[in-house]
Amino acid sequence: MTTATLTSTKELQQRLDFFEQECRRRGLRVTEQRREIFKTVASSHSHPSAEDVFAVVREKMSNVSLDTVYRTLASLADMELILRVGTAYKERFDGDLRPHAHFICSDCGEVYDIFYNLDHMMLPLQEAFSCGDVRQINLQYKGLCKQCQEKRKSGTVSF
Ligand SMILES: [Zn+2]
Ligand SMILES: [Zn+2]
Repeated sequence: MTTATLTSTKELQQRLDFFEQECRRRGLRVTEQRREIFKTVASSHSHPSAEDVFAVVREKMSNVSLDTVYRTLASLADMELILRVGTAYKERFDGDLRPHAHFICSDCGEVYDIFYNLDHMMLPLQEAFSCGDVRQINLQYKGLCKQCQEKRKSGTVSF
């Protein structure tokens, strides 16, 4: 896992404040563990898996369990504070809530961010659905990443 961090600590602080507000609004206690797990995802740009988050949080809190990390990530995703991305066999989490799409490699499971203006996607959706307001678009492209293409070409992976 690469440890790319958010460029702005101010942005991270705003996210943490919002996280605490949301927890209180839903009657959830803001525990140190919950806060640390959220902070780990919110400050990462590498779409960490539950295991990745566990490895980071455990460095600071030796008593945290992988099960707690799983459950906390699931509730944070349900609260729309983080996003679930990736494939069913390896779920990953995204702390970057700016509108963007993902490219997911079907071979290695790596998740890449694709930033472009998704506003034009909103219009047909808003018109097609009378159920309510669209707040989030989950757009995923699947394929073979460049590294895996190279691996296949050089014959290091057999299919
Ligand atoms: Zn790949
Ligand atoms: Zn992303």
